[in-house]
Amino acid sequence: MYFNDNFNSLTENYLFAEIAERIKKYTTENPEKKVLKMGIGDVTLPLVPAVTEAMHKAEDEMSQASTFRGYGPYEGYSFLREAIKNYYGTFGVKLNADEIFVSDGAKSDLGNVTEIFSQNNTVLIPDPVYPVYVDSNIIAGRKIIYTAATEENGFLPLPDKKIKADVIYICSPNNPTGAVYSQENLKEWVDYANASGAVILYDAAYERFISQTEASRSIFQIEGARTCAIEFCSFSKTAGFTGTRCGYTVIPNELERGGIRANSLWYRRQSVKFNGVPYVVQRGAEAVFSKDGKEQIQQNINYYRGNAEILANCLYKLGIWYTGGKNSPYIWLKCPEGMKSWQFFDKLLNEAQVAGTPGAGFGKNGEGYFRLTAFGSRETTTEAAKRIEKFLK
Ligand code: PLP
Repeated sequence: MYFNDNFNSLTENYLFAEIAERIKKYTTENPEKKVLKMGIGDVTLPLVPAVTEAMHKAEDEMSQASTFRGYGPYEGYSFLREAIKNYYGTFGVKLNADEIFVSDGAKSDLGNVTEIFSQNNTVLIPDPVYPVYVDSNIIAGRKIIYTAATEENGFLPLPDKKIKADVIYICSPNNPTGAVYSQENLKEWVDYANASGAVILYDAAYERFISQTEASRSIFQIEGARTCAIEFCSFSKTAGFTGTRCGYTVIPNELERGGIRANSLWYRRQSVKFNGVPYVVQRGAEAVFSKDGKEQIQQNINYYRGNAEILANCLYKLGIWYTGGKNSPYIWLKCPEGMKSWQFFDKLLNEAQVAGTPGAGFGKNGEGYFRLTAFGSRETTTEAAKRIEKFLK
């Protein structure tokens, strides 16, 4: 009996375990010091009332024989798909409901979508990157090539016509760098993909953090994207669903290669391996698009944005180079005095009792950079900014 040896090619990702270990060691040796954790990628504000009310109501329906629901549609209930379709309409993107697939989150879909692509495809991934893209393609045994995201390109690499790839991952607003593509730059990627036949897998998990009009909420705001892109989105960071689990994937009917439609393949894949998201959760997700839900989640996003602004102002005052913070809950800063990521982590922990995430953990080009997040409380964020300012002044 054999297992899949591609697992041997995964590099052990010790990043978060190593961070936890170093914080534990420090707090054991310095029990009187309070460490502020500014590295978390999880939200801290609870679900908004519009969502929990909808979920309670749905639970009541589930407790009555006349309104009970069993297995739902693989692709999600039409009430939620219609709500998502209408949301896209608010920024000028016209979708058909059958192009929207509801799932238990973007991570599953980003990993699982690799199954509809040929084994022989070459995958182009930016570095540094959200690790799921790399690891799911390693498990599938595909050839991966990297495009460098660097300070010179603002951590927003553009296509290089000399490079041939079949599948391209783009994440905007980006995790870990917080950088956001302009519509003009996304158009370059779309044109490149349409010219070469590549498919873009566009991760829009943080789209609700966008405040600038020149940035895109969806790749489908870009002309030509319907023939070359799949978009992944999530309620996790925008509506606090990290533990509730719901997301969606958009596959336009026009996206086909070799006469086969990606939408049909994904429907087939989901119908074989997925039995849908709980009814109660989908009713909660639907409420995110209601009038009250929209206002309430906007307040939470504004709260996180306020935190990001506090951190960004602090770095600006110190003259430290950074990206993100404006249209993203992440701030990606250049470690001062040429320090390496882990060196800066240790110094910040030991001298200011602030813990972030070393950029080196997200890829080779992350070395020398550091990620802070805006998902903490206002109090913690304000205190962390004060400590960083005092320590780096
Ligand atoms: N995509 C990016 C870029 C993320 O940072 C995350 C979570 O941190 C996800 C996707 C996963 O989202 P979900 O919770 O919907 O699985």
